[in-house]
Amino acid sequence: MRWSNYFLYTLREVPSDADVISQKLMMRAGLIRKVAAGIYNYLPLGLRSIKKLEQIVREEMNRAGATELLMPAIQPAELWMESGRWQKYGRELLRIKDRHDRDFVFGPTHEEVITETVRDSINSYRQLPINLYQIQTKFRDEVRPRFGLMRGREFIMKDSYSFHTTRESLDQTYEAMRKAYSRIFNRCALDHVPVEADTGNIGGSASHEFMVLAQSGEDAVVSCPHCKYGANIEKATSKFFDDETEPAPAAAVEDIHTPGTKTIDDVGRFLGKPTSQLVKTLVFDTDLGPVMVLVRGDREGNEVKIKNHLGAQWMEMLPDTRFEEATGAPIGYCGPVGTKCARVLADYSLRGRSNWIVGGNRRDTHTANVNPGRDFPEPEYGDFSTVFAGDPCPRCGTPLELYRGIEVGHIFKLGTKYSESMNCVFLDEGGERKPMIMGCYGLGIGRTVAAAIEQSHDDDGIIWPMPIAPYEVVVTVVGKDENVVRTANEIYEKLLAAGIEVLLDDRDERPGVKFKDADLIGFPLRIAVGAKSLAGGNVEWSWRRDRAKQLDAPDAVTARVIDEVKAARSQGL
Ligand code: ATP
Ligand code: MG
Repeated sequence: MRWSNYFLYTLREVPSDADVISQKLMMRAGLIRKVAAGIYNYLPLGLRSIKKLEQIVREEMNRAGATELLMPAIQPAELWMESGRWQKYGRELLRIKDRHDRDFVFGPTHEEVITETVRDSINSYRQLPINLYQIQTKFRDEVRPRFGLMRGREFIMKDSYSFHTTRESLDQTYEAMRKAYSRIFNRCALDHVPVEADTGNIGGSASHEFMVLAQSGEDAVVSCPHCKYGANIEKATSKFFDDETEPAPAAAVEDIHTPGTKTIDDVGRFLGKPTSQLVKTLVFDTDLGPVMVLVRGDREGNEVKIKNHLGAQWMEMLPDTRFEEATGAPIGYCGPVGTKCARVLADYSLRGRSNWIVGGNRRDTHTANVNPGRDFPEPEYGDFSTVFAGDPCPRCGTPLELYRGIEVGHIFKLGTKYSESMNCVFLDEGGERKPMIMGCYGLGIGRTVAAAIEQSHDDDGIIWPMPIAPYEVVVTVVGKDENVVRTANEIYEKLLAAGIEVLLDDRDERPGVKFKDADLIGFPLRIAVGAKSLAGGNVEWSWRRDRAKQLDAPDAVTARVIDEVKAARSQGL
């Protein structure tokens, strides 16, 4: 492609509403353009990277035995009513009406449509397992669309769905998909970790997220440097509380006057005790009523774990306005003894401990030497707190490390959630009707491209991994000298003939502008043809990643660059 004939305009200015580096660079390099909040144009250059990633994804899906199809973006509401998600999905679901006043949705995901498709076509165990995928545009009306393609409202996803007769068969496909995902991210040269993820209320099912490690990541993940245990912070556990120490003998309950101590730190300071010796009380409002959760004073409650334990549909911190009425205690002084909360949960960090210091349920009062079972009913113990960096790994005890990550893929053993509600059944060998067992596997295409930039850039621009670079090579025409123009064109034609993805920068621009743009866009390999070196019979070439310039005759450079591209293309294969 000749740049003079191309739709590619870089921006000097950093867009004011861009908040992460990949978004700034994608906009400045002319890859994407914002049309509305969370809705983008993929400009020609950006589209090339998207298409290249899609191709890698296709190759790996096909290799793993999945079959491509394409489902509609607009889906009838009836299917969502069948699955029950018409009511449950909330405001991320874009609901629309057609001219006959019939309800539709713009698909945020496709479990309903695929389940309906498969139940219509498959009825025997002989036709299973099957794994179907598509690469398609989704719409989710995210509360806070941001970070460019990383959290858009309209975005491209690869989603696959597998159907099975047995759990073992699902396990096999799940494993094949896990491997395929690793291959995809390796081929994109992405530093990534698969981590265990929360499965919500579905229960019993496994789920992994693929995280690209990056400071700007919205997720926190823990990882064990020794045994490779990895989990999303929402789900991560540690061995921290396994060491049962002999509890001190129970002492007599004692009220302490603690005026003006509303937070756990206030109480610690007031009593001259570390917060680890206190008990923190959290109260949540849930569809099951107010729930009290007790954790050791220096730990944090983990809402995802708590909500899963309760099996609650919704849960939030109890608002101040309802606090006294719901708990019977003033804010800051709430505790388990005589509480109005119907359920009291306690984190493992408190198990086996005696003589707790807790809120006294009266203003300016805490109570010491409170013992569960004696002074209030035994609470429901469980893992309700968030892992901290340095906590021992649950598998091997090594101190855990904490990272920020970008979730680029998510694989999930769904079980029979959709097949049961939507009656997607098969006849087994004995002629018995059974719900199919399902798995689903998502991968964000735009988010992965953005994550690659997030991981690989410098102050001047993007440093593309070759397999998803929009062009592999740029040939820069430096100046207007006839010989220069002719040589650059010859090199360009030879690269094209060799199947190299090359852009010829033949614009009428100053060399400085061209070089700056080449850095910003981040073509992995660059060839510059200028009068000075050409007078000595040479042209210049360099890698974007180190920019070390090398000189050689045009034919030698052309041959070398073709070799380099071919070697780099097979990266991770
Ligand atoms: P998140 O927690 O980031 O909202 P999710 O759990 O809702 O993600 P899934 O429903 O599992 O995501 O979707 C599969 C994949 O689609 C994700 O791993 C991610 O790569 C991508 N994805 C999800 N939401 C968005 C979005 N708003 N913009 C871009 N990509 C997205
Ligand atoms: Mg989401």
